[in-house]
Amino acid sequence: MAYELMPLPYDPQALSPAISAETFSYHHGKHHKAYIDKTNAALDGTDRQGLPLEEVVAMARGSDQALFNNSGQSWNHGFYWHSLSPGAKTPGADLAAGIERAFGSFDELKTKLSERGAGHFASGWVWLVEKGGQLSIEETHDGDSWADREGNPLLTIDLWEHAYYLDHQNARPNYLKEVIENHLDWDFAADNLQRGSTWKYPG
Ligand code: MN
Repeated sequence: MAYELMPLPYDPQALSPAISAETFSYHHGKHHKAYIDKTNAALDGTDRQGLPLEEVVAMARGSDQALFNNSGQSWNHGFYWHSLSPGAKTPGADLAAGIERAFGSFDELKTKLSERGAGHFASGWVWLVEKGGQLSIEETHDGDSWADREGNPLLTIDLWEHAYYLDHQNARPNYLKEVIENHLDWDFAADNLQRGSTWKYPG
């Protein structure tokens, strides 16, 4: 069965002005859709069709760069839509305790996420990851993914220009500030932490 473009879990207007409906129309409706379509086309008629998307990413890593990029980006964007929230949230007790252990405070985590995201050269992703009970901030370049890496991704932010250029032009730090202050879904992060295993792309 082919992978599907998962619907946005909120109204595309709901994160404006940090992320506008126009950005979602391109980012979800065109970019994410193209990654899904190209992944499906590459797998069509092969014995890899129907595998969980995470397994496709793992199999393509290091062996098929085009499939790795497209399957990784398919997964990353699904995870990113869920990492975002219309309204500001705060971490629940277990997640908050892990954040304090690793970063000292929730404010310090937000500062570090902003710095790492702003400092990342060119396209990629910044992630909050749990490994062996320890939280850390990680970065991947281009279409590289945390779908098949060691550790449990809790949240991600897209650092590609297509994620913010219509709304913030070149000012990636402004996009990061608005998203990190007001639009990260800490309930999604807490669910991922509690499950203790990597989120699965729906389907
Ligand atoms: Mn993107």
